[in-house]
Amino acid sequence: MKLLSAIVPCYNEQENIRDFYDEFMKNESDFKSRDLEVELIFVDDGSTDLTVKNVKELAEKDNRIHLISFSRNFGKEAAILAGLRRSKGDLTVIMDADLQDPPALLPQMLDHIDEGYDSVATRRVTRKGEPLIRSFFARRFYSLMRRMSKTEIVDGARDYRLMTRQVVDAILSMPEYCRFTKGIFGWVGFNTKWIEFENVERRKGETKWSFGKLLVYSIEGITSFSTAPLGLAAFIGLLFCLLAFAAIIFVFVRAFFFGDPTSGWPSLVCIILLVSGIQLFCIGIVGEYLAKAYLEVKQRPVYLVKEEI
Ligand code: UDP
Ligand code: MG
Repeated sequence: MKLLSAIVPCYNEQENIRDFYDEFMKNESDFKSRDLEVELIFVDDGSTDLTVKNVKELAEKDNRIHLISFSRNFGKEAAILAGLRRSKGDLTVIMDADLQDPPALLPQMLDHIDEGYDSVATRRVTRKGEPLIRSFFARRFYSLMRRMSKTEIVDGARDYRLMTRQVVDAILSMPEYCRFTKGIFGWVGFNTKWIEFENVERRKGETKWSFGKLLVYSIEGITSFSTAPLGLAAFIGLLFCLLAFAAIIFVFVRAFFFGDPTSGWPSLVCIILLVSGIQLFCIGIVGEYLAKAYLEVKQRPVYLVKEEI
């Protein structure tokens, strides 16, 4: 018998736990026919509702259910890491609790593993039901990322992924504190089969990602997997040096031939504002990377576990 571990990060998902379990277990006969045992690892990311209680109720009836409960909200990336560390499976899958990652795709994904792929990833090809502005910026982010980073980060990719033990171990060998999972998946490589599906809207409850949170997350992604912004800062600096050089020559030549006294302080003020703005912007970019290094150096744990069943 082989073991399949399913990791389910949950943050205030009280209404979805039961539905998720039922939906997931619809595959039970398929698992049996493949000689697969399953374990379900719910990672409670510091929920303030009845998520923990609901998982415990399920766990009493079904001993294949495990719970890791955090001391506070550490974010989905931390929950995924905790689940991966806990998973013992020969195969491991990560799934959202809100059923936006349809469990019905699992048999197809398992087929691809049987074909010899190391990992089966999913991406949604539509963004139906999502605010237009959110989709627009998401698309911009992915196209920017494609140009800036050598690591492959696929548009619409979900964290819904089935992986062999080898891939899980590779991910666990990455010790970083700032964990941008989408980038980590791409970075470790391996033979990956992509499955496409239409976006499914969240079953119940609200999304935990506000626009602001997503913006911070995208900056996190860029600074974790690309150093291109640092190069951009250097480039802008050089460009302005050249501009300044040209301006100096222009001013000198004009003063020499036409004896024009320097006039027009408004333009000067504009230039000072522009250049100091650009300087602060570039320092900000450097600061982002410095902050990242600062967080890594402190070596704090990525999450704290309060309770485990
Ligand atoms: N989640 C989490 N910690 C968080 C935010 C979200 O564990 O801080 C979980 C959440 O419970 C869900 C999954 O991550 O299972 C995806 O979250 P959500 O559905 O809110 O994101 P969306 O699908 O809208 O991108
Ligand atoms: Mg969701």
